[in-house]
Amino acid sequence: MNNEIGNMLATLCFLGYKRATKYDIRNTRHEARNMRYSRMFIPTVKEVPADAETTSHKLMIRAALCRKVASGTYTYLPLGWRSLLKIIAIVREEMDKAGAQEILVPCMQPAELWDKTGRSIDYGPTLFRFTDRHGRENVLEPTAEEVVTYLAAGEINSYKQLPINLYQISPKFRDEFRPRFGVIRSREFIMKDAYSFDADPKGLDESYKLMYDAYCRIFKRCGLEYVIVEAESGEMGGSGSHQFTIPCESGEDTIIYTKDGSYAANLERAAVDPLPKEKSSAEIPPMQEVHTPNIGSIEAVCAFLKTQPKDMVKTLIYAAGDDAVAAIVRGDHDLNPEKFTQAVGGKHVELADEATIEKASGAKVGFAGPVGIAERVSKMIIDHAVAAMAVGVTGANKTDYHVKNVMPGRDFPLEGENVTVADIRYAVEGDTYNGKKLLFRKGIEVGQVFKLGTKYSEKLGAKFLDENGDEKPCIMGCYGIGINRILASAIEISNDNNGIIWPISIAPFEVLVTSVNQDDEKVAQVAEDIYQDLMGKGIDVLLDDRALRGGVKFKDADLIGIPVRVTVGRKSVADGNVEIKLRSETKSTKVSIEKAPDKAIELVNSLKEELKT
Ligand code: ATP
Ligand code: MG
Repeated sequence: MNNEIGNMLATLCFLGYKRATKYDIRNTRHEARNMRYSRMFIPTVKEVPADAETTSHKLMIRAALCRKVASGTYTYLPLGWRSLLKIIAIVREEMDKAGAQEILVPCMQPAELWDKTGRSIDYGPTLFRFTDRHGRENVLEPTAEEVVTYLAAGEINSYKQLPINLYQISPKFRDEFRPRFGVIRSREFIMKDAYSFDADPKGLDESYKLMYDAYCRIFKRCGLEYVIVEAESGEMGGSGSHQFTIPCESGEDTIIYTKDGSYAANLERAAVDPLPKEKSSAEIPPMQEVHTPNIGSIEAVCAFLKTQPKDMVKTLIYAAGDDAVAAIVRGDHDLNPEKFTQAVGGKHVELADEATIEKASGAKVGFAGPVGIAERVSKMIIDHAVAAMAVGVTGANKTDYHVKNVMPGRDFPLEGENVTVADIRYAVEGDTYNGKKLLFRKGIEVGQVFKLGTKYSEKLGAKFLDENGDEKPCIMGCYGIGINRILASAIEISNDNNGIIWPISIAPFEVLVTSVNQDDEKVAQVAEDIYQDLMGKGIDVLLDDRALRGGVKFKDADLIGIPVRVTVGRKSVADGNVEIKLRSETKSTKVSIEKAPDKAIELVNSLKEELKT
């Protein structure tokens, strides 16, 4: 090879290398032709879908982020998918930074593993199940404790391999009773789920803290204002949990907190102080049975006996395995199944069937009462608020009868071998905790972290040998984030009448360059140049080059909500200027054509700066 050719090849290789780096790392997507609105698939619509109750659901359809396929399932269109990918990138980066390692487990999982942990029953009808051609039972993963613990059981055997934290970002399936609010409660969604394995409780605390802190960074970076509340670990089992919630009116979750910020919990968890004992003005006469034919519901009894729900005592019969257990709550209160589960010793409980209720109460459904029920059930748990009542009306444990003048403590026991008074109801307005008034606020749960303990590792045999050669179960934690809910809640809290106002970090594009008069060659060229310049500088930019009226383009621009907007119109271009504005502000600024790209970049950077952790 002569020198000249050698040099030429070297230069070409170098250029090729430079080019490859440029393409691979940053620009593959930016230089694709489809960053032009005219070529992109962005079918925005004016109509609001009939089933859309929330702002985010409406806007996600209108701004062409997604389309419904069937109840609770959605196809993401290019804009929506771009945002989801950005969220995923943030989540992945923070998980990696926190020391978790990414894996991928199958969505289709053997039901056998779920039988081993008992969750094929506990998850109930929410678990999607199917039988394969060989007659094997499978589930579609709603979460992956079973499969990841099964993996650990096969691979971890020494304390030297611990701690370890494995995560995945993948579709999850839940046959939700009521899919709604678009992607917020859907039947297929993308979840980031992580599972930590530690040798001792202190290790778990550290793993938990790492995830907790990573979650704070993730939500901040996604532009979400979140609150962290204590949560119940529910069917997960385990000893502690926090939920990350985005306060907003349309949220399905209730956040309960004290004004001074010393307490915040979700509704399932929120504890209440016992109510002060009611005083009766006169001596309570003996119990009196009243005939209430076919009148079983609280409302009907109240109307019939001219009393109020708060003066009634409800008796609910639950099944805990083969046992019947009674929950006694005030007529105007609702039983909190999570608290009740704790009160019966962590056993899974569900409302008993009619036959069990009738057997326990000796009456048709609607007429159970606390008097004498303790002898007929394995446990009777009485809510504090009932124990505090001076007197009440209850079912008579006799079909078509109620009893008046029932005095807790006198007519039914408040303590005993199988009788306990406990906090088993949902908090309501007016309640206090630690003497402080409880305040209520709606929110969307976007993530939750759990200390699982050894529930799964024991059941699935994820054990290791410690330093002394003793076999021990791994101590686990699990950590979930709803990727789609991040997207929907960002829209839910950041929008106006005209459309979405994206946080820059998860916006489908950072800058929108609108050519207002695409038929004007000069305008089209200026817009094109700014677009190219921004692209070359690594900005995520969309060029609206459609041959449409300015008004239509501005409407779409507001709707799809790209944070920084460069507007190129005939008039300003004639003066050598363009207009730059933020989607979140109404005021625009005139900038010379030459300075436009740098000004846009400056705005992008300042928006990014606000989301830095
Ligand atoms: P919820 O109480 O809202 O049903 P969950 O507590 O059952 O949710 P987790 O098991 O904690 O949910 O799942 C982790 C995350 O997955 C949740 O914090 C949420 O962001 C998301 N998620 C759960 N269910 C759904 C769903 N049906 N649709 C979309 N995202 C969901
Ligand atoms: Mg949860």
